[in-house]
Amino acid sequence: MSTKPLPEIDDTSRPFWDAVQNEQLHLQHCGACDSWIFYPSRWCTACYSQDLTWRAASGTGAVWSFSVIHQAPYAAFEVDVPYILATIRLSEGVQMMTNLINCDIDQVTVGMAVQFTTETRTDGFKVPQFEPTS
Ligand SMILES: [Zn+2]
Repeated sequence: MSTKPLPEIDDTSRPFWDAVQNEQLHLQHCGACDSWIFYPSRWCTACYSQDLTWRAASGTGAVWSFSVIHQAPYAAFEVDVPYILATIRLSEGVQMMTNLINCDIDQVTVGMAVQFTTETRTDGFKVPQFEPTS
């Protein structure tokens, strides 16, 4: 079990992390302007409405950009290098920075179809990850 750092969770982000622990991807949706939102927020980032609800997301998207990390930012990540840090454009239109796993670093491309998965880290806590669509 690695000792990678874990996120700081507050009341706004707790529904997101709770869903991830159940291996589901939930995003906020604005009832006022029909926008999807990520990061978790108390206000819609498009219209500032507080008419936000959590909804199950598709869990699908495409690589928007990526970088191959060769120098670990923390000792706990040294076992993973080289690894892929990617920005994923989700099917809902929002972007999420994450790791791309189960993918050879020579095969990742911008536009590659990916799907949500999770990785279990410190103390059994799951974090969102993406992998090539199977
Ligand atoms: Zn809105």
